Amino acid sequence: MLQPFACDPAASRGRRHPEPAAPTRSEYQRDRDRIVHSTAFRRLVYKTQVFLNHEGDLFRTRLTHSLEVAQLGRSIARTLGLNEDLVEAIALAHDLGHTPFGHAGQDALNECLRSADPLSGGFEHNLQSLRVVDFLEERYPAFDGLNLTFETREGVLKHCSQRHAERLVMAEPQGVGRRFLDRTQPSLEAQLCNLADEIAYNAHDVDDGVRSGLISLEQLQDVALFARFQQQALAQHPGLAGRRLLFESIRRMLSAQVYDVLDATGAALREVQPGHVDEVRAAPALVCFSPEMARESVELKRFLRANLYRHRQVVNTTDRAKEIIRDLFLAYQSNPGEWALARKQVRLRDIADYIAGMTDRFAMREHERLTGRRLFD
Ligand code: MG
Repeated sequence: MLQPFACDPAASRGRRHPEPAAPTRSEYQRDRDRIVHSTAFRRLVYKTQVFLNHEGDLFRTRLTHSLEVAQLGRSIARTLGLNEDLVEAIALAHDLGHTPFGHAGQDALNECLRSADPLSGGFEHNLQSLRVVDFLEERYPAFDGLNLTFETREGVLKHCSQRHAERLVMAEPQGVGRRFLDRTQPSLEAQLCNLADEIAYNAHDVDDGVRSGLISLEQLQDVALFARFQQQALAQHPGLAGRRLLFESIRRMLSAQVYDVLDATGAALREVQPGHVDEVRAAPALVCFSPEMARESVELKRFLRANLYRHRQVVNTTDRAKEIIRDLFLAYQSNPGEWALARKQVRLRDIADYIAGMTDRFAMREHERLTGRRLFD
C-alpha cells in the first residue's frame, strides 16, 4: 500500500554501523522497537510537557505527548500511503533529548553551557534527541547508541542551526546534517511528524490548560479554531457542558486538522507528483495545512503562549525549575566528584548530557542532595 514517494525500508540509506537484516521485521519496525526499549524512552514518563510531573497525574507528560504524536502521525500516514512504521519510530523518538522541566530546563541548560564556554554551541533539544539515539544509549556490545536508520535519524533532527549542521557534516558528510546546509526537505514521514507534533500539543495543551484551571472556556471563545468547534458541538448537543464539552470541541478540532492536512498535502502531492523520496527531499515542503488552517493554528499557538505558557503560575514554577538546572550544572562543574557517574575527565558536554537525561523528580532530589534546599514540595 506504500506510495512511490514513501520511504521504503528495503531501500533505506542504512545504519551508521552496518547490521544484517532482521528475519521478520522491517528496518523501521526495528528502529521503533529499539526506541521503545531504550532507557531514554522510559524516562519520558517522568518528564514535563507543560505542567511539572508532580503537579497532577492527569496532565500530559513527554511520554503521553509522544504517543499522541505517533497516533496522529500514523493515522495520517496510512491514508496518504506513507510508511507508518517510520512515522511511529520518529514520533516516539522526537522528544528523547528533552531536559527535565520542559522548555524552561532547556533554556537554563543552554545558558549554562554558553556562559561556561561560548564555543560549546549551547544546548538544543533536537540535536540532543539525535545524540541520545546516536551516542548516549548504552545497549549494544559493538557500538554506542541505538544505530537507527538514516530515515529515522533524519526525522529526529527536525531543526538544526547552520553551525551545528556544519559540525555534523564534518563527522558524516552525507549524514542527516547535510539538508540544513543544502536547504532541502526531509522525507514526507519526517515532515508529517513535525506537523503531527504541532497538532498534538495545540490540542492537549488546551485540554490540560482548561482542566488545570489556568485558562477557561470563556477565554477560548476568542480563538477561532476552538470557538468554531465548540459552537458546532453545542448546536448538535444543546446543554453539553464541562469536560464533555471541552473534549467534544477538541475532538472535532483534531479531526478537522487531520482532514485539512490530508486535503492540503494530497493536493501538493498531486501537483509535484514525486516518484521517489529523493524527489520529495528536493521539492518544497509538501506536508502542510491549508493557508486558512495554518493561520488559525498560529492564532491558537499565540493564545496558548500568552495565556498558558506565560501564565504567572507556570512562570513561577519554571523559574524554580531553571534554578535547579543552574545549581546542578554549577555543582557538577565545580566539583565533578559530586557526580554520580564521575569519570577521569569531565567535559562540559558530559555534564549537559547527564542533566538532560534526568527526569524531573530525579533532578529535584539531586538538587536537594547537593544544595540542602527543597524548591518543590
Ligand atoms: Mg514534541
